[in-house]
Amino acid sequence: MKYKRVLLKLSGEALMGDRQYGIDPQRLAEYAQQIKEIHDKGIQIAIVIGGGNIFRGVAGASNGMDRVQGDYMGMLATVINGMALQGALEDAGMQTRLQTALKIEAIAEPYIKRKAVRHLEKNRIVIFGAGTGNPYFTTDTAAVLRGVEVNADVILKGTRVDGIYTADPEKDASAVKYDTLTFEDVLSKGLNVMDTTAFTLSQENELPIIVFDMNKNGNLVKICEGEPIGTTVNV
Ligand code: UDP
Repeated sequence: MKYKRVLLKLSGEALMGDRQYGIDPQRLAEYAQQIKEIHDKGIQIAIVIGGGNIFRGVAGASNGMDRVQGDYMGMLATVINGMALQGALEDAGMQTRLQTALKIEAIAEPYIKRKAVRHLEKNRIVIFGAGTGNPYFTTDTAAVLRGVEVNADVILKGTRVDGIYTADPEKDASAVKYDTLTFEDVLSKGLNVMDTTAFTLSQENELPIIVFDMNKNGNLVKICEGEPIGTTVNV
């Protein structure tokens, strides 16, 4: 296996499947199976999941809601998704722990780095909920932050597209995919990989990012075996 410990970032929207809102149990079960494949190979797995399928602070603010209030609602949305994913992973036979950046003691442990690492060492899957715990941040930033904190080897950003393109492939048919990029390339070409805060944190800590299609079964395990799936951003 190329990686020993990975931080998997899943967007909330990916959990919708073909729905307009919420969580598709079928999609959740498929993700659990993909995650099981790498778990069975002994890879330590931490997961950050977004909340965009339920609530986004910016969307709330554009409808007149206080931004900070909306962002906390978004963070709670990530906890709901984390609980759903936790259930699906446990149904598939894996041991998990949910740790949240906001304290919700009845349902999750508070985030404690040392405890998270201990869980990973025991091959428990650790899901980090509630983002960074701060408004005005994103779950991409939470993913890189937690990835750096727990010493992950790589950030695996599972999306609907199979990598980083010269333009948005869903809008521009002539867009071409990159296999590898440096952090500098991404900046100089003005490519959109993650928000700037998340991207800079990854670059400063030399934590590589792989953007790949999580909806294609088998991709996750292939990446961990070292196959060149998706686009890798590295120093
Ligand atoms: N959020 C936040 N701080 C964080 C992470 C998330 O305030 O550290 C809020 C923010 O409102 C965001 C929402 O949670 O819009 C959902 O997260 P995100 O949009 O990153 O989820 P994704 O797009 O990956 O589903």
